[in-house]
Amino acid sequence: MESFTEKNWYKVEPIKEDLIVIREQLDELDPRFHTHFTNLYLLLGSEKALLIDTGAGVFPLKPIVDELIGTRELMVLNTHGHWDHVGNNSQFEKVYIHEKEARLISTPINISNIADSEKTIAKIFKKNNYLLMPTKHVESLKDGDMIDLGNITLEVIHAPGHSPGCIVLSSNRKELFIGDIAHEGAVFLPKKKNFPTVIASLEKIIKKFESTPDIEIYPGHEEYPRTLLLFQKLLEGIKNIENLWDSKQKDQFLRSWILEDENFMYVISKI
Ligand SMILES: [Zn+2]
Repeated sequence: MESFTEKNWYKVEPIKEDLIVIREQLDELDPRFHTHFTNLYLLLGSEKALLIDTGAGVFPLKPIVDELIGTRELMVLNTHGHWDHVGNNSQFEKVYIHEKEARLISTPINISNIADSEKTIAKIFKKNNYLLMPTKHVESLKDGDMIDLGNITLEVIHAPGHSPGCIVLSSNRKELFIGDIAHEGAVFLPKKKNFPTVIASLEKIIKKFESTPDIEIYPGHEEYPRTLLLFQKLLEGIKNIENLWDSKQKDQFLRSWILEDENFMYVISKI
C-alpha cells in the first residue's frame, strides 16, 4: 500500500481562488504522533505568493509550489520551527520565522526518532542520516510585522506556548493562519509550568478577534476552516487539565504525558 511518490504524497486542495491548502498525512509517516494531517497554506496575492510552512520534507515541495504560483514572487514563512513544519525549508532561498526560532532552523534538525516507524516511507530520511537540512537564509519576524502580497496583507501576531516563537497571521480578509497553537485532535503542549504562556496566547487571540465572529481559522493540523470556538474549547480544556491529571498516561515515544477529554488529546511535554 505504501507506494508514495512526490506526485501522490501531497494533496493539493483549493479552498478559494487564491488560497490553496497542501496537505500531507503525518500518520502515514509515523502514527506515533497521533496526528492525521499537516496543512501547508499557499496564498496567491496580486503581487506575491506566500507559502505558510513547508511540511516534514518527505518529498520535494518546491516543484509543486512553483507550478501553483505562476509568475508571482514567492515568500516562504514558518509558523514555528518544529520539524513537521520546516522540513522542506532548504529548497527555498529564504524563509521567514519569528526571531525566537531563527536559530533553530539555521541548524540541521535531528529526526532519528522516526527511524523505527512502522511506516517504511520514514526510511526516505535515511539518506540524510535523519537530519533535516538547515534553512539557507533565515529572516526574523516579530510581533506587529506586516506582510504585503499586493491585495492581501497579513499581520504577524506572536503567540508563544506550543513553542516560544509561534506566530499567527491575520489577513485583511478575516482569515487567521494559526500554526499549531490550536487544532483538533492531539494538541502538543509544553511542560505544565509553562501553561500560563499557552493560556495567555489563547486569551489574547480570543480577545483580539471576538468582535470578528465570522473569522476563518486555518490550523497547521487536521480540519479547516474552524471558528473561534476552537480557541474557546481548547482554552477551557487546558484549564481543566489539572482535574484530569490522575488519568494521564506515559508516552515513551513522545516523552510526554497524554490525557484526553471529549474534545482533545493533550500531549504534555515532560522535558
Ligand atoms: Zn505540528
